[in-house]
Amino acid sequence: MPFTVAIVGRPNVGKSTLFNRLVGRKLAIVHDLPGITRDRREGRASLMGVDFLVVDTAGFEELGGDSIEARMRFQTDRAVEEADVALLLIDARAGVTPLDRHFADHLRKAKTPVILVANKCEGKAGAPGLYEAYGLGMGEPVPVSAEHGEGMYELFEALMPHAQKAGVVLDEEDEDEFPPFPDEAADAVAEDEAEPDPGRPLTMVIVGRPNVGKSTLGNQLLGEERLLTGPEAGLTRDAIGVEWTHAGRAVKLVDTAGLRRKANIYDAVEKLSVANTLESIRRAEVVVLVMDAAQILDKQDLTILRLIADEGRALVVAVNKWDVVENPQVALGRLRDRLETSAPQVKGVRTVTISALNGRGISQLMDAVVDSWAVWNRRIPTAQLNRWLAEVIERHPPPALPGGRRYKIRYITQVKARPPTFALFATKPDELPESYVRYLVNGLREAFDLKGVPIRLFVRGGR
Ligand code: GDP
Ligand code: GDP
Repeated sequence: MPFTVAIVGRPNVGKSTLFNRLVGRKLAIVHDLPGITRDRREGRASLMGVDFLVVDTAGFEELGGDSIEARMRFQTDRAVEEADVALLLIDARAGVTPLDRHFADHLRKAKTPVILVANKCEGKAGAPGLYEAYGLGMGEPVPVSAEHGEGMYELFEALMPHAQKAGVVLDEEDEDEFPPFPDEAADAVAEDEAEPDPGRPLTMVIVGRPNVGKSTLGNQLLGEERLLTGPEAGLTRDAIGVEWTHAGRAVKLVDTAGLRRKANIYDAVEKLSVANTLESIRRAEVVVLVMDAAQILDKQDLTILRLIADEGRALVVAVNKWDVVENPQVALGRLRDRLETSAPQVKGVRTVTISALNGRGISQLMDAVVDSWAVWNRRIPTAQLNRWLAEVIERHPPPALPGGRRYKIRYITQVKARPPTFALFATKPDELPESYVRYLVNGLREAFDLKGVPIRLFVRGGR
């Protein structure tokens, strides 16, 4: 038996329209008159390369003595029973009706899992009905517009776990199985699944090679916050760090013990400790890399940049000692050039010129920290990603495979944030050239404004 999906719901919610949309042919009769679809109709459907059987049911009417209705109901129950999953459709424009509730109650008793689908959600008219749908107690409704073809990726995502359980079938070209998540990414999700709690402070560290002004910056930050908020008010300390609020967001500077210690033992020949730097980077979400304006991006800076990118942290570059720069305009141009050419992993990274000594640029630096943290946490809806993917492939398709076969990219989804991590599903993942992957990563960064954070893209195929 192929993976089978039954579409159920009261008359006129758009079952036949959805069926047609999935099957891609005008098979069922669509009509404005309620109850026009009398029989079960089955069709082979496909979403993002996953094939399945879709069954359009006649709406079951409320129980009555009428034999036709009883028969319809029998048909629907059988369709649900035989399906791997049922889509309970409601009309979001009409809101939740008593008949919808009746359906929900009836389906709750069935063994078949149910996905609640709110149809007619194009535009804004569906919004109230969509919220009402939560009240049915059938889980989160998937908003779609069968007529306009909207929400099909979301529907696909909702179906995927059930398809997995049933053992999905791909289109004929590939007999291999379709994994829901790339393994590495799935591991990463397990390791780091927690969404940021809005009340929890973002954590930041200050790193950089010796003498660039890390301790001065740390003291300036805390001093400034003290000035702004009164002596020690709003500034809390614990063993891990110091916490305050910037632009309405709680911020915690961690690893301050190390900073203070270093300030006391001033040592001109101190060397960069990669191990200590790595340890600091791992403690925080946002890393502020301090550089000396007189020596931007020397070898040690690049080493630290690489560590930050490898650890997947959000990054802000603070170019310090700007007070002694003689020609700021020229220096700024040179700085941008060097960053663009030497640090492609973190293209577009937020760069702020500061003077830790006199406090200039500190507030802008903190703005950049908060911004970059937000980007690091961003989640992009799958539908948006795939709309983008279709465009970039159109503009610049992947090179053909040996033998002239077309390289097929199926779809893309963000599997996690912190940092933004994407899975691209494609045939022959090993044969997608590295340059094309880079093209996609750069495109993602541009299109979704993912500046200054490492982006991960796993290319996966079947097994
Ligand atoms: P069924 O009785 O549940 O099979 O519903 P139909 O598929 O016959 O659709 C009933 C009516 O709703 C028709 O007039 C469709 O054109 C309309 N309809 C279906 N899907 C949508 C949608 O996504 N948006 C809007 N606005 N109307 C829809
Ligand atoms: P760290 O080793 O990175 O913690 O660097 P420090 O904070 O100890 O600073 C090293 C030296 O640079 C000290 O002499 C500081 O006074 C000086 N310094 C730090 N920030 C600035 C700045 O913004 N402008 C200038 N002119 N000197 C600075």
